[in-house]
Amino acid sequence: MKQCPVPCPFVAAHSQDMASLRSHLLDGYQCRDAWVAMSKLVNDPVRRKDCLERASALAPDDEELLIEYLEARLAVNPADGFAQQRLNEIRTMRLLSDVKTPYFHEPPKPRLIGEILVSIGAISESELQAVLAEQRRASLLKSDRRLGQLLLKRGLITPVKLAKALIIQQQERSRARAAPQVLGEYLVEKGYITAAQLEAALAEQIRLDLQGKRLSLGELLVKMHLLSKEKIDQAAREYERLFWSQFNA
Ligand SMILES: [Zn+2]
Repeated sequence: MKQCPVPCPFVAAHSQDMASLRSHLLDGYQCRDAWVAMSKLVNDPVRRKDCLERASALAPDDEELLIEYLEARLAVNPADGFAQQRLNEIRTMRLLSDVKTPYFHEPPKPRLIGEILVSIGAISESELQAVLAEQRRASLLKSDRRLGQLLLKRGLITPVKLAKALIIQQQERSRARAAPQVLGEYLVEKGYITAAQLEAALAEQIRLDLQGKRLSLGELLVKMHLLSKEKIDQAAREYERLFWSQFNA
C-alpha cells in the first residue's frame, strides 16, 4: 500500500483526467486527492458520495471533507437522519471551539473537559472511562471522537452541563494569564454580566445550535435581556482597544 502525500503531485497534474485518476488508484495508491478529484468529475450523486466516502476515510481528521461527504449523502437521500445528525453535531462542536478561541496566544494546557465533567458530578468516572474507550474504538465515519459530542449524543450530559464545564475550563485558562481570552470572559471580568449569566447564555447557544440556529453571544445576551445592544457595542469596542493595545507596547 502506497500512501500519497497531500497534496498529491500526480493528482495535481491529472485532476481533470478520470482515466489517469482511476489507474492511479488501481495502482494501489491510498490517495485522498484522487478520490476528491474523482468526486468532482462524476455526475451521478451516488458515485460522488462514494468517492467522498473513500476520500474521507483516508483523511479522517479532515472536517471540511467530512462535511462535504455528509452533504453528498444528504443529496442522495434527504431523509438520511444519520448524516443530518452528524452535520448538526459538527456545527455544535464548531460553535464550542469558537467559544474557546483564544484571542491573544495559545492558552496553557487546561484540564481536559472529561476531568472537569467528573469533578462537577455531571458524569461518573466509569461513564467517562466507557466513553473514552468508545472514543478510541470509534470509526471516524460512524461517530466523532470528541468527548463532549459523544457525551451529548449518548444523553449522558445536557447542554447546560457542558456549558458549565466549558466555563470552568475557560476560567482555568484565564487564571494563567493577564488578558481575557474571549469577549464573554471580558464581559464577566469587567462586571457587565456575571459568570452565571455567561453560563446561561452559553448553554442557550449550545441548545439553539443543536437545532441548527446560530446566534452570536452578543445577540443572545440582548435576546435574553442580560445586556442592552448599546452596552454590548461599548464592551466590544473596549475589548477591541485592549486587543490592539498589545501591539503598541
Ligand atoms: Zn496520489
